Amino acid sequence: MRICKGVYLLKVGELERDGDLIKRASSSVVFIEDVRTLVDSGFKSDCRAIILALERLGFSPKDVEAIINTHLHRDHTGCNELFRCEKYAHELQIEAAGVQSTYLPYEEFFRSFNARGIEIIETPGHCFGHISVVVHADKRVVVAGDAVPRRGNLLQDVPPRLHVDRKAAMRSIKMIKEIADIVVPGHDTPLTLRH
Ligand SMILES: [Zn+2]
Repeated sequence: MRICKGVYLLKVGELERDGDLIKRASSSVVFIEDVRTLVDSGFKSDCRAIILALERLGFSPKDVEAIINTHLHRDHTGCNELFRCEKYAHELQIEAAGVQSTYLPYEEFFRSFNARGIEIIETPGHCFGHISVVVHADKRVVVAGDAVPRRGNLLQDVPPRLHVDRKAAMRSIKMIKEIADIVVPGHDTPLTLRH
């Protein structure tokens, strides 16, 4: 699914709950064509669907040059292994996950790529060291991760159900609202705020 020029949603984020129990969680997966970069990689059972979606755009997994993970929860990193490229995340997440060797701090992304039109913003609240990716194309797209897990978080100004810092979470939502024409929530379909 095309979000805007050069920005594609390979997989819609999902979240199924049974009361407080999460039955299934898998993140949205976005492909930024210009830099051949994925934002998040879903849950591990979604790898096949992600490959098929890439192939429909004329790419294969080996064409993917980088993955930016909004954070390192496993419903966002499930198919990382499929791609033999550098993976980027916030330093706090890398530290917390104890996987320093396989992830690079997100600032490094800009040293490897001439990523004009791409910005990474810090959007803590759901967890510490959460980042969102802003793509300035014909629209301004914010790939929000779990700063905005569901459309309702943005529309009704409610923090993510799972959060470590409520105030920070609300600041992150406010910032995303100010920037975005289109928001891609972590676990929901894209939401157009401005045409
Ligand atoms: Zn998530």
